[in-house]
Amino acid sequence: MDFDDREEKSMEELRKSLKRITPVPIWEMAKAVCLGMRKMQYLALGRHAMVSNKKKYSLRDIETSRRNLRANFTAYHLMCFRIHFVRRVLQRYEYWNRKFCTVNIETTGFCNRKCSFCFNHDRFPKRERGRMQEETYKKIIDELAELNFCGRLSYAFYGEPLLDTRLPAFIEYARERLPLCFIDIHSNGDMLDEELLITLVNKGVDHFLITNYDDHERPLLESLARKYPVPVTLRSYRDFGKTDRAGEIFKRGNTLGSPCLRPSSALVVNWKGNVVLCCQDFYQKYSFGNIKEKSLWEIWNDKQFVYYRKQLRSGNRRVAKICTHCDDGGGVPW
Ligand code: SF4
Ligand code: SF4
Repeated sequence: MDFDDREEKSMEELRKSLKRITPVPIWEMAKAVCLGMRKMQYLALGRHAMVSNKKKYSLRDIETSRRNLRANFTAYHLMCFRIHFVRRVLQRYEYWNRKFCTVNIETTGFCNRKCSFCFNHDRFPKRERGRMQEETYKKIIDELAELNFCGRLSYAFYGEPLLDTRLPAFIEYARERLPLCFIDIHSNGDMLDEELLITLVNKGVDHFLITNYDDHERPLLESLARKYPVPVTLRSYRDFGKTDRAGEIFKRGNTLGSPCLRPSSALVVNWKGNVVLCCQDFYQKYSFGNIKEKSLWEIWNDKQFVYYRKQLRSGNRRVAKICTHCDDGGGVPW
């Protein structure tokens, strides 16, 4: 069966087929392995000292955790290495299970920066800004839990996630409902300090991808990345190839003919709850439904969305205007 031969099926049939392709014993086994490993990771981190019934951690708790972390550094690294390995396997499993393997959620549409190569810069037309409603966020997480989602949950789009003060509570909710997910935060690091880092790791974050958008040195971020190299990756904005943002930011030329797997692998939900084509779709030119009105699974199986994905996988970038000049390689973001 081709990836999207399910176009004509009813939602009920789709739900049934989902159950068939996600055999419960496999999921339960993976869950047990991953939870066991997480528990060991917690122990290695000394989180048993912090995962008590306390709702608020004092600086002393954090200091204790830090000392434990240093003492158990090797054990912690070994655990993380295995968790990363399991995460890759699970993400592939999601993908070949004909589901998205990554979900990008924009909890806030605000960013404190205006990078020249980003839509948030003043030279681009503004879009509406706001924060995702709590019920919308919970609905996404609940529906992912219903789908037994075990891929990557990424807090990324065009808003800075650490500006959202609800983030620790959001992460806690996601971790509780989605124990197998790899939780990833993409941030500019401006709001990040050691206390927030440890709080978020304790709530369930697996990884921070921090991009330094300054040409200046950022000693705090560098020291955090040195001290916690597994959960924190620090990169400079100069270290990665920036895309032309679907031809909106630079005009780099034609990429017609090269397949794009982005919409087939990642589901992007903006702060309004709209599911958009991909991470380049800042102005939500291609929106396939709102999470407040439809379920994630219904949106994923929306006929138009299925059609776009199929065309883009076969290399037809003419299918959508924003894809015509996009120079994104279109690979699967494992
Ligand atoms: S920090 Fe990120 S989201 Fe904010 S303006 Fe820069 S590139 Fe855009
Ligand atoms: S070609 Fe570019 S704009 Fe189109 S779906 Fe792929 S990444 Fe998005």
